[in-house]
Amino acid sequence: VIPVDDAKRFVLDGLAALAPIELSLADALGCAAGEEVLAREDVPGFANSSMDGFALRAEDTTHGSATLVIAGSLLAGDAPLCRVEPGHAVRIMTGAPLPEGADCVCMIEQTVVDASAGTVEIARSLVAGDNVRYRGEDVRVGQSLISPRDELDAVVLGVLAGQGFANVAAVPRPRVAVISTGNELVSSGGALRHGEIRDSNRPTLLGLLREAGFTPIDVGSVRDEYDVIRSTFERVAEECDAIISTGGVSVGDVDHVKGVITELGGDTARSMQVAVRPGKPFAFGRIGSRCVPAFGLPGNPVSTRVSFELFVRPSLRLLGGHRDIERLTVNAVLDVAHPRTKDGKLHVVHAFARVHEDGRAHIESTVRPGSHLISAVAGADALIMVPDGDGFDVGDEVRAIIVNADGLGSSRVSEVR
Ligand code: AMP
Ligand code: MG
Repeated sequence: VIPVDDAKRFVLDGLAALAPIELSLADALGCAAGEEVLAREDVPGFANSSMDGFALRAEDTTHGSATLVIAGSLLAGDAPLCRVEPGHAVRIMTGAPLPEGADCVCMIEQTVVDASAGTVEIARSLVAGDNVRYRGEDVRVGQSLISPRDELDAVVLGVLAGQGFANVAAVPRPRVAVISTGNELVSSGGALRHGEIRDSNRPTLLGLLREAGFTPIDVGSVRDEYDVIRSTFERVAEECDAIISTGGVSVGDVDHVKGVITELGGDTARSMQVAVRPGKPFAFGRIGSRCVPAFGLPGNPVSTRVSFELFVRPSLRLLGGHRDIERLTVNAVLDVAHPRTKDGKLHVVHAFARVHEDGRAHIESTVRPGSHLISAVAGADALIMVPDGDGFDVGDEVRAIIVNADGLGSSRVSEVR
């Protein structure tokens, strides 16, 4: 039996980020940047107005107010063909280029237009630069916009699009194959024979992968036959960046997955008993010509989820080139006691959490143990770490991996309405 940290180190140590490729901006959302990108254009590209108002010469307003001749108007998108002479002003909309001669803009709320006279009264004095957005104020040519491993979030994509880029070098989303194993598994919705069960792990894993921004590949389920499992792993290893299987890593008579992974993975592989509950049996190795990581997770649905969070998700984030590979983890206050008995293992417990008015995350309830009790953990926001010992009392602090940050929101629709 080995500690979680040792098992995790064994897995992570042999992994490296996938090679960057060119992706369209839309496809790159959520990926890690593959290389530094320098700005090739100034933004804004020209001085323009930050207000709807009048462009004018600040010197015309030095006496505290002025009446100026309206000499034209400029909308955003117009070329600034007019020139602002002394004593003149040009009507200008937000984003329109500052016309030659003007050095500031007076906002429309501080002006009074006399339409019949064709003049505008400026009710205050302005200084050069007022309400003007200068060329290069946001981005200058040559400036570094992104560095390798930066997260390509929606706003970064906007910055790149603002430079005229259609593509970006990014680490591709790992393509992750999911295989479930077990003679008892049925994937269709039809009637079950006695002894059969429905495959719930595969949809869960495919969903967890998609949620995390990876590309899931559904390989289906295979029977507990060594050769079939082996050939499936060998074939799939050539077509994806990682493999996750469930079932067949424990000590049962037909638990063949651990044998397949250790055979195909050679020195890189290990079948482990991890000091964690649930999720004790776990196999890992790098297999095939491209040495893709293969994760053999236990078949019990809650164990599958816990092993995915502890070992698989951080590994796939690493393959994806991300700088931060762990989920948000916080100290949370227990509003319920969580007693346990000593068994030499870390207990990882699904929990319902929420940020309270004190600004802290509170664990409002924990899910009773039972690695087969998947419906009880549905909708949980956090996995709390309960180290070996007697457990926790109300008010104790506990490490919590947040698996659904939105679920912690401090105000809920029912309260806002
Ligand atoms: P195993 O790890 O193969 O010994 O499986 C442990 C338990 O998990 C058994 O009760 C299996 O029937 C169950 N199980 C295995 N695979 C799945 C699956 N894909 N979906 C739901 N339950 C499963
Ligand atoms: Mg099995």
